[in-house]
Amino acid sequence: MRIVFATGNNDKMREIRQILGGFTEDIVSMKDAGIDIDIVEDGSTFEENAMIKARAVHEHCKDAIVLADDSGLEIDFLNKEPGIYSARYLGRETPYPEKNAIILDKLKDVPDEKRSARFVCAIAACLPGGEEIVVRGTMEGRIGYEIAGENGFGYDPIFFLPEYGKTSAELLPEEKNAVSHRGKALRMMEEKLKEIFNA
Ligand code: IMP
Repeated sequence: MRIVFATGNNDKMREIRQILGGFTEDIVSMKDAGIDIDIVEDGSTFEENAMIKARAVHEHCKDAIVLADDSGLEIDFLNKEPGIYSARYLGRETPYPEKNAIILDKLKDVPDEKRSARFVCAIAACLPGGEEIVVRGTMEGRIGYEIAGENGFGYDPIFFLPEYGKTSAELLPEEKNAVSHRGKALRMMEEKLKEIFNA
């Protein structure tokens, strides 16, 4: 069974292969499957946006399992911003060190208990028979007081995990995969696919 993942991001593909490798080794990106389409993500939730992407790609490869993800950071003090707008928040081209510094400034003087935040990842699947599945994984933490760590990407350097005493940018990639929103959602999806396909 072939899986086509609706992303062009190589880091994500590596993580997806590591986690879903037990289900099938035939996992390709939409680009490698020869699908080059622009998808308008105009849903209002992570789940809707993931499903919009999965359906759009499935139109072009109905025999495959098509997976798509949508993820972002919710900061409670900012009314769950940036949420589904995480990639374009404060400008798509603005470098993350700058975005992270602006967020730290917005939370200046905000006490620990009001700094709660979470990364969210929804993964949607369209199956060859037309069935659709969607799962959500989250990683709870809080916004730190300074930028720290070189690993990861995006908002990781300001996402503090109290149980580790460090940011998700200070975790090793395999440590982050074990607890991350995307890792959890991918493992949930793997379980569902195994149940359906008896793999
Ligand atoms: P997308 O799912 O590729 O659209 O990612 C949305 C955005 O959410 C990314 O561009 C990042 O800004 C943010 N994001 C999602 N997951 C992570 C993560 O694991 N670490 C840091 N930022 C993340």
